Amino acid sequence: MNFYDGRLTTRETAIGRLRSEGFDVLIIGGGINGAGVARDLALRAKVANRPLKIALVEKKHFSSGTSGKNSHLIHGGLRYLKQFDFHLVREALEERATLLKIAPHLVTPLAFLLPLEGVFREVYYNVGLIAYDRFSRGLPRHRRVPLAQVREMEPGLGLPKMTAAAEYYDAEVRSARLVLENIFEAQSNGAVCANYIAAGRRTRASVELHDLIAKESFAARAKLIVDATGPWAHDPSPRLVRGSHLVLPRLNASDHAIAYFDQQGRILFFIPWGERGDRTLIGTTDIDHAGSADDVHISNDEIHYLREMAGRVFPSSAAIEPLAAFSSLRPLLVTGGSATRATREHRIFFDSEGVLRITGGKFTTYRAMSEEAANLAAPELGDIRVTAETPLNGNSIEAIDDLRAEGPRLAAKFSLETAEFVFLVNQYGVRAPAVAGCVPETGEFGLSRVDAGRLRYAVKYEMARFPADFLEVSTTLGLEGLSKIDFPDE
Ligand SMILES: Cc1cc2nc3c(=O)[nH]c(=O)nc-3n(C[C@H](O)[C@H](O)[C@H](O)COP(=O)(O)OP(=O)(O)OC[C@H]3O[C@@H](n4cnc5c(N)ncnc54)[C@H](O)[C@@H]3O)c2cc1C
Repeated sequence: MNFYDGRLTTRETAIGRLRSEGFDVLIIGGGINGAGVARDLALRAKVANRPLKIALVEKKHFSSGTSGKNSHLIHGGLRYLKQFDFHLVREALEERATLLKIAPHLVTPLAFLLPLEGVFREVYYNVGLIAYDRFSRGLPRHRRVPLAQVREMEPGLGLPKMTAAAEYYDAEVRSARLVLENIFEAQSNGAVCANYIAAGRRTRASVELHDLIAKESFAARAKLIVDATGPWAHDPSPRLVRGSHLVLPRLNASDHAIAYFDQQGRILFFIPWGERGDRTLIGTTDIDHAGSADDVHISNDEIHYLREMAGRVFPSSAAIEPLAAFSSLRPLLVTGGSATRATREHRIFFDSEGVLRITGGKFTTYRAMSEEAANLAAPELGDIRVTAETPLNGNSIEAIDDLRAEGPRLAAKFSLETAEFVFLVNQYGVRAPAVAGCVPETGEFGLSRVDAGRLRYAVKYEMARFPADFLEVSTTLGLEGLSKIDFPDE
């Protein structure tokens, strides 16, 4: 089938260049932080009109680490407000406003209901949410929702002592797709990015790279190495805190997510979720992880805890088997104390060997962290801040609105329903017509027509090589419970 050609050329060309060229900056790790730094440097060099040779290598598929398996929220973090971490909340809410603007197809407003029990809690959380509103930009302010209205919106809620709820806003994100978009914008501005390339031993001027598909090793020359390996970093290693989620058939009756503080003051989310909106995502836990970063699974204790909380918030969930579960690791700054309270602040620094290291932080703040890292990685380009004002791959609010308005015409052009085309716009933004162009006449690979087209596109343009690359990165179908597809043979 000729649609393999593009993929082989893309990855093989990147590897050819990694083998033969020298780089100013080589980034290790294709999660959100590595991808963000690659995009920032590539755009900065373009604006400065100065040559800067950038490479990024990822040992599995891009975004296959923590960045694709998180809670999918772009949020200030109510729990950080409770910990009086005002700096983090303010920065995260500023970034939320920026991401809503530069990636409007992937980052969208999400309303929350925070059930409250008793007058004291109503006043306490109201004060907190007033502070949240003060830092917040671009989304509605919080409001008190009377009990009768909450029960009408969410008839399945348990919580017999609830007296009212607070409604507040944050945003949700298609996390792995945001990582891919950062990688592809870096690539289209000259960066060389390749997956399934593991970085090994490094010296000041070179890194040993292992092509895990061809099973070959070679040395790549680089003046500066950026370590964005997150949970896999070592010397020093981050504090690894595991977070797990359960995925259930949809429990939320409204489009509001539920935020619930347990008796220990830990926040849990029940998010209407899934590509077709027919799931509820429940999470997360916070457990210090002692094992390897390559071996991360939900434990029986975590399943028990999440199901118990689900039973409290949505009693009907007790009779429903989870469809899926996924876990990942928070790479946090090393601090003492409980895993829940460990700081989410970040640190970007040169280690004793001159490697630029990125540790800690949140998905929400990746763009600001990338800007800080790029300032250190390429000071010769000057303090050019370009990523906050540049729509990601051209996905401005206007471009997305125009595509949605053109939905019926473009859908007809590709023999799709309007809703199917708009779905592609919500996943791929301005690339939706290109994906629509890959949709076959009938379903294949065990997938619907539209998903089969997405698989063709992922293989041809997104370097997807294995079923999990499609199920957990290009899409969230695998995280939602789909485990088997007929991945096309070469
Ligand atoms: C359960 C959970 C829920 C979360 N929810 C949210 C949320 O809702 N909102 C939010 O803002 N933040 C959230 N976070 C935090 C956020 O997701 C992380 O801070 C962020 O994704 C970390 O990104 P990263 O790029 O540093 O790490 P990763 O995404 O893990 O990327 C590191 C990459 O490096 C690669 N790598 C490792 N070693 C090598 C090597 N030798 N060679 C090549 N590549 C290598 C790995 O394969 C991996 O892809 C959550 C975290 C967890 C654990």
